[in-house]
Amino acid sequence: MTRPSAGGRIEVICGCMYSGKTEELIRRMRQVMIARQPCRVFTPRLDTRYSAQHVASHAGARLEAIPVSSIKEVLASADDLQVAAIDELHFLEDAPDVILAGCQALADRGLRVIVAGLDQDYRADPFPGMMQLMAVAEQVDKLYAICVRCGAYATRSQRLIDGRPAPADAPTLVVGGLDLYEARCRSCYEPAR
Ligand code: ADP
Ligand code: ZN
Repeated sequence: MTRPSAGGRIEVICGCMYSGKTEELIRRMRQVMIARQPCRVFTPRLDTRYSAQHVASHAGARLEAIPVSSIKEVLASADDLQVAAIDELHFLEDAPDVILAGCQALADRGLRVIVAGLDQDYRADPFPGMMQLMAVAEQVDKLYAICVRCGAYATRSQRLIDGRPAPADAPTLVVGGLDLYEARCRSCYEPAR
């Protein structure tokens, strides 16, 4: 086994929808760009809410990004990089252990790897890929939104269909915005049935 290169690290930005994960990723990447470090932002192809060539926060901040379907594509275009950022990691099509191995390989090469993604799905179950990355990351930041019902800190993404909680057997990944998802706290969250 080769010794990991110095400087490599994994940073995970997690939380529910509207918690500011993309804003935080953009903030960190703007600093990286000011420091003129070779960097690239990647965004899963599945996330078609906004222009595919950008990551965009709900508040409107945008940054150029390269659409990818798999962590392999990130590995293939990371040779010249010091920093690689992946937004909406939960949308990558790979199995959780493949995502984990890919991010570990990047960090072992000496890259700073910044990933942002949902820690829980709409059923409030952990996203396995995010869960595993959090365990090995050098830094984990959990962000909070504001509960639309009571104003407390929100940690959960409520998916609604015609104003009612989506059933538990609905697809895990459905791209949508305020029409489909609400940020809610533990006590205002209504479990999927
Ligand atoms: P995430 O990537 O976590 O979904 P974004 O960075 O895209 O979040 O968006 C965060 C922004 O969403 C906030 O700065 C705010 O303007 C907006 N927003 C909309 N609804 C809420 C909410 N319920 N709580 C907090 N912020 C919200
Ligand atoms: Zn609440």
